[in-house]
Amino acid sequence: MAEFSIIETYFSRESNSSVDLGVGDDSALLTPPSNQQLVICTDTLVAGRHFPLDTSPHAVGWKSVAVNLSDIAAMGATPHSILLALSLPNIDEEWLSEFSQGLYDCCDQYSVSLIGGDTTQNPHLTISVTALGFVEQGLAVTRSGAKVGDLIVISGSIGDAAFALQHLGHPLQRRLDYPTPRCELGRQLKGLASSMIDVSDGLAQDLGHILAASHVGAKIDLSRLPIHHALSHLSENKQWQYALAGGDDYELCFTITMQNYEKLLQLQPNVTTTIIGQITQDQNLTFEKDGLDHPLQFNGYQHFA
Ligand code: ADP
Ligand code: MG
Repeated sequence: MAEFSIIETYFSRESNSSVDLGVGDDSALLTPPSNQQLVICTDTLVAGRHFPLDTSPHAVGWKSVAVNLSDIAAMGATPHSILLALSLPNIDEEWLSEFSQGLYDCCDQYSVSLIGGDTTQNPHLTISVTALGFVEQGLAVTRSGAKVGDLIVISGSIGDAAFALQHLGHPLQRRLDYPTPRCELGRQLKGLASSMIDVSDGLAQDLGHILAASHVGAKIDLSRLPIHHALSHLSENKQWQYALAGGDDYELCFTITMQNYEKLLQLQPNVTTTIIGQITQDQNLTFEKDGLDHPLQFNGYQHFA
């Protein structure tokens, strides 16, 4: 099977009507909505590095889209389309068929179109997705807007994926294989959150990026961390380790005033949100339990460690 028939067979489904020209020409064409900014990001998944080698191809397809939509959501933007750069060691039609189904399932769930890409042969399976989205001019939520006194809030539960990675076959493996990009919540937070990030490398590290960009610190109440009940048999310390240093959760961590948080709750987000702490003036990340400081040391995922 040649490169062109791979593209035609697996990656040429019709785009949404908002795409002027999709897969098949030298480039795709879009007309940006007026008064909106283009939001773009890329994330690469390397087999064996970003997902276990025996992950189902359907899950790999889903996840390669989901991790990018999560980055778009973390800006308060609405995802619109993706491009796919695929490096395949060989042509395995069964793999391609399931992979493309997983990719399109995630696209369909969030009304996103695959509008182009590149297909190459390479000894190592590598999937690079670029996502495009739009947000009203000036309304994107960046990492740099956290203010002293803001609440720190996290969606869903954290640590599930890291736990699952060490317990393959556990029901929580779904959280690892099929992350849910918080697209609706991200959009609802536009104009409400002061800063936001999606948690891909562990909460401690990712919140650290907000703190550094905003020149503030944070105090986290360990007893408030939303940890899945499947982890409740573990020691507290082990649970915190998963929740704070585990990666791959793709939940949204944001800072927000109490007043705006109440406005968010009135919008009835489709995922639970939990206040876990507060932004402080001193530029450190500290933890407390039962009102007392509780020093902890955590490292998130380091790509070049
Ligand atoms: P060119 O040689 O001009 O770069 P290609 O032969 O690489 O074009 O690609 C032909 C068309 O197929 C282009 O529209 C490109 O965006 C699209 N395409 C290539 N690979 C993929 C892929 N894996 N997924 C989606 N679209 C793809
Ligand atoms: Mg090309």
